Amino acid sequence: MAKKTQHKFATKVIHSGGHPDEETGAIMPPIYQTSTYVQSSPGKHKGYEYTRSHNPTRSRLEECLADLESAKYALVASSGLAIASLILHAIPEGSTILCGDDVYGGTYRLLTTVFNKTHNVVFIDTTDLKRVEEKLKELKPTLFWIESPTNPLLKITDIKKATALAKKYKAMSIVDNTFMSSYFQKPIELGADVVFHSMTKYLNGHSDVVGGCLMTNKKSFYDKVWTLQNSMGPSQSPFDSWLVLRGLKTLAIRMEAHQKNAKKVAQYLEKHPKVERVVYPGLKSHPQHRIAKSQMSGFGGMITFFLKGDIKKSRKFLEKVKLFALAESLGGVESLIEHPAIMTHASIPKTVREELGIFDNLIRLSVGIEDCDDLIEDLEKAFKSI
Ligand SMILES: *Cc1c(COP(=O)(O)O)cnc(C)c1O
Repeated sequence: MAKKTQHKFATKVIHSGGHPDEETGAIMPPIYQTSTYVQSSPGKHKGYEYTRSHNPTRSRLEECLADLESAKYALVASSGLAIASLILHAIPEGSTILCGDDVYGGTYRLLTTVFNKTHNVVFIDTTDLKRVEEKLKELKPTLFWIESPTNPLLKITDIKKATALAKKYKAMSIVDNTFMSSYFQKPIELGADVVFHSMTKYLNGHSDVVGGCLMTNKKSFYDKVWTLQNSMGPSQSPFDSWLVLRGLKTLAIRMEAHQKNAKKVAQYLEKHPKVERVVYPGLKSHPQHRIAKSQMSGFGGMITFFLKGDIKKSRKFLEKVKLFALAESLGGVESLIEHPAIMTHASIPKTVREELGIFDNLIRLSVGIEDCDDLIEDLEKAFKSI
């Protein structure tokens, strides 16, 4: 169980889980790059037996992560989807899962090609609370999976109301908090049972690690997922855990910088004659701007926009940007641009994509923390070329 501190967020990211190395005084945590640990007598050890099960570097990361979301427990694994898999294995076979209809493409693929064999998976627009209540009542799901804001349409679900409904109908609620990071949104404080992150994105923030984590106050659930992790094996390496610990230290200032740039870029796009529509939770034009404001302390660095034109124009635009790197993923210090229909969301059938609003002229930006003037100039040049 992790220690909850009373510190403010920017202090927690730097100090939670941290203490000088007892032997040397080293201020930074050592990378315990070891697979095993010496025992003084058979079965007598210092809490560490084998790195698949426990590792001191990873434990420090877990302690820090738990504190960031006011949770007692955190579990780290080798990717976000490894954590998602552990969560889905932890519920009984035959369970119903009620899941948001605009979730991350990989989550959708995991649910529709792997866990659909053992579970009954139903997708729903989680922003529509009336429908949510009907489905909770009708299907009695074990798990209610919310992503807010969603990827790539940035739809916002009222987390407080949605998780209260889940509680009423005895479903465990999970919120994928990857897009806001623990800095801008704290789903456990809003009523969620479990928070899920792809640490690959903002938590690590430097595009050099793949990893995932969950935070929860539910001991029995934590024990279950830890046992599954130990049994199935997707533990994160000590070095990757150390990199995330290092990345986390600047989470507070990075998120502020992402948001500052994203706001400017969103306003620039909103006025641009070659843009049909911009989706950014911080804009008054966002359909759930008020809910966003009430449950998030900021609006993050992700922007989605619709270009005026067809797939050819989108392709050309994406080829012309230089500073914005054309790549999947998000949440790193450098700006990225991508085309969900061809890239991250290609695993979702075209008809389903279009029902959701993921059209061929939709472009997603992960706004980095470079100088914003350079970012806007880069976009402007690409617009001029189409
Ligand atoms: C990337 C991502 C995931 C999956 O995490 P991996 O670390 O890539 O396995 C899940 N949810 C969201 C919102 C993501 O962006």
